[in-house]
Amino acid sequence: MSKEIRTRFAPSPTGYMHIGNLRTAIYEYLIAKSQNGKFILRIEDTDQERYVDNAREVIYETLQSVNLKYDEGPDIGGPYGPYVQSERKAIYKEYAKKLVELGGAYYCFCSKERLDQLRKGSESQGGVFEYDKFCRLLTNEEVESRLQNNEAYVIRQKVPETGSTSFEDLVYGTITVENQTLADGILMKADGMPTYNFANVVDDHLMEITHVVRGSEYLSSTPKYNLIYQSFGWEIPTYLHVAPIMKTSEKKLSKREGDASFQDLLEKGFLKEAIINYIVLLGWSPSTNEEFFTLSELKEQFSLKGLSKSPAIFDINKLKWMNGEYLRRMSAEDFHKVAIPYYKEIVHCGIDLKKVSLLLQHRTEILSEIPEKIDFLAELPNYDSQLYINKKMKTDLVIALNHLRASKEELLLLNQWKHDEIEGCLTTLASKLGVKNGQVLWPVRIALSGKASTPGGAVELAELLGQDETLRRLEVGIFKLG
Ligand code: GLU
Repeated sequence: MSKEIRTRFAPSPTGYMHIGNLRTAIYEYLIAKSQNGKFILRIEDTDQERYVDNAREVIYETLQSVNLKYDEGPDIGGPYGPYVQSERKAIYKEYAKKLVELGGAYYCFCSKERLDQLRKGSESQGGVFEYDKFCRLLTNEEVESRLQNNEAYVIRQKVPETGSTSFEDLVYGTITVENQTLADGILMKADGMPTYNFANVVDDHLMEITHVVRGSEYLSSTPKYNLIYQSFGWEIPTYLHVAPIMKTSEKKLSKREGDASFQDLLEKGFLKEAIINYIVLLGWSPSTNEEFFTLSELKEQFSLKGLSKSPAIFDINKLKWMNGEYLRRMSAEDFHKVAIPYYKEIVHCGIDLKKVSLLLQHRTEILSEIPEKIDFLAELPNYDSQLYINKKMKTDLVIALNHLRASKEELLLLNQWKHDEIEGCLTTLASKLGVKNGQVLWPVRIALSGKASTPGGAVELAELLGQDETLRRLEVGIFKLG
């Protein structure tokens, strides 16, 4: 029987969900779930300086809201816990000691002053700081006595100084690194916390992770991690590094510029389903031309072959288009539900909100556009009379004034304030006047909205506003033009 697939999502608690990380989580979830495997959540919080309140909750809530159900994790437990790295300090300490004994790491007692000196030296020569491996040469006795003296230390990886290390990445192919280019990096810090470079290896091994999926920024360090696996005699997992999501061909998405966070996109009015669908396709291509996928469809369709190593550019217009498609494909009731929070301004106007939703559903790309599309319903804006002039509709200020007057008279007499009756009334008026419908409907639409672009035309707007308000707004228009 083949081994159970186990993947993990290992975010650092930053207080927001980077969409690149969320995409990695989806791939990890899909790789596990498409093969009946397990998907694990692990919180990587060893960098305590970057501590942010509530940050774990953001992770739990985001994963929950997009239905990425993990099988094991800090808040739900599991057989390989704890799932928070800061709670695993003792484990790393034990393994770091073991690694020293196995010859894969060494104690380093170099002071901050000495390291600063080295750093200055290499920087003044235009180089990049690299530890000079001074403590690699300490004898066992010396190390013992300094430990006895409670001297502060870190534990560094003892990277072979010759040869090369290779591995096979399922996305990037064979990666080979000359060992001499790898630094003796810190595995355990002086505060007893591991660095990512050590913790990821220990945890992935102990949690029996079979497939490590992460950003391609870790590609060049992976040989170092593999050297640690080898020192312990542990099986190396399968690696899949994924290309970053870019803002432009040179620039990555960044939280600071407000374009990398999942929460920010939600606040901008994108639907989570559309965001998920869109980001999955940034870095993975299905085998067909289909572009729309739910998570459960993805579980069926996902295959590793579609993962790409070329960075994808995040195209907000494409996401907007996709979001608009999602809105259009919703049932009228579902659209109404997601649109309601955007109706705050018109909630108290006695307008039939369901009808507003029907008008908006096919004319909205992102929900946050809604308030601006419907603000005129709450209050007629102070508009420019020039709007009445429309070449295509063949209207000018005189025609508009005459037709507003006539429309008002006819609409005043209408007993039934319903769509078809209003439409009948205005189109009958147009034919009575011997003019095209547009010559009546355009001025009415402007009078009712004060805008050239509205969701729905004159008839729909009149129906929404009701008879009294329609007549009042026509009167305002007549006054403006008279
Ligand atoms: N904590 C790392 C990060 O957030 C995780 C990398 C990994 O998945 O191994 O970048």
